Amino acid sequence: MIRFDDRVAIVTGAGVGLGRSHALGLAGRGAKVVINDLGVGQDGQGQSSGAALAVVAEIEAMGGTAFAHGADVSNADQVGDMVAQTIERWGRIDILVNNAGILLDKTFAKMPMEDFRKVVDVHLLGSANCCHAVWPIMRQQKFGRIVLTSSASGLYGNFGQSNYGAAKAAMVGLMNVLHHEGSRDDIRINTLAPTAATRMTENLLPPEALKLLAPETITPGLLYLVSDDGPSKTILSAGAGCFAQTRIYETQGTIITGDITPEAVAQNWNIITDPTDQEELQDAFSQTRKYAKRAAEAYKIKLDW
Ligand code: NAD
Repeated sequence: MIRFDDRVAIVTGAGVGLGRSHALGLAGRGAKVVINDLGVGQDGQGQSSGAALAVVAEIEAMGGTAFAHGADVSNADQVGDMVAQTIERWGRIDILVNNAGILLDKTFAKMPMEDFRKVVDVHLLGSANCCHAVWPIMRQQKFGRIVLTSSASGLYGNFGQSNYGAAKAAMVGLMNVLHHEGSRDDIRINTLAPTAATRMTENLLPPEALKLLAPETITPGLLYLVSDDGPSKTILSAGAGCFAQTRIYETQGTIITGDITPEAVAQNWNIITDPTDQEELQDAFSQTRKYAKRAAEAYKIKLDW
């Protein structure tokens, strides 16, 4: 059975929606949980501690342990204070769930750059601030489990969400690099791409779909990702009890020798984009090596790499 006894978790944006469900799930299986929430509206406006305190009360009522912290994840000092308070109370941080988020949807043509920046600030820099603050602690413990929250908007695209989609796709880049830097200290990092009925989606989906898409249908996936035996560098897409892995593949492609012209690229387009034998590259230099080796072979150059 997956348990989190003696584990300490921070869940950001845990006052409502998915974050609340994740926090209750972790606490229900034994973790001590920091309920972080700035208590803002969906657009990032306003501020209240009510929702976070209510989740703490729910956890305490079921015999669990939690405290609320109102750090704005986009403010590194406030995040630092949250992490310091957690260490002071409980001495370690094993799990970080980066979940806090806002929406400022507009078509790109009408998007003020201020709105673009704000969304990137909360989702991308907010997640980076939290990861950065717990990183030395997890390295020293030689144990850490981190989840970043992405979205189908970033992975696949969605009209009117250029700021949000860009910030959410950036989670994958942050995960990919932190996986390589954290693996020697057993820090595992994954990305969750949820689709859930919350205030974020309540006006966008039909009522029957909203009933099926409760956050509680996603949280078991999150709990597996942060478990002792969980994976690393995985994008888990989830909703309505459905779970799937989103992966990035590169086609075999081809080499163009002689005149490397745009016309030659056009002529080879079918081969370049042919998915037969496409592969998932493990790191950036796997790609560089693949190209250098293929070119060395084509030009009969000896390459020991
Ligand atoms: P929600 O609006 O219900 O909850 C978000 C929470 O984050 C709120 O409690 C809010 O106060 C908090 N928050 C916002 N800015 C903050 C900040 N700067 N610092 C601290 N807390 C802050 O949203 P949700 O639907 O539960 O979404 C949770 C996460 O999942 C978000 O990252 C969202 O982008 C992502 N997501 C949701 C869906 C979906 O279908 N609901 C789909 C894809 C991704």
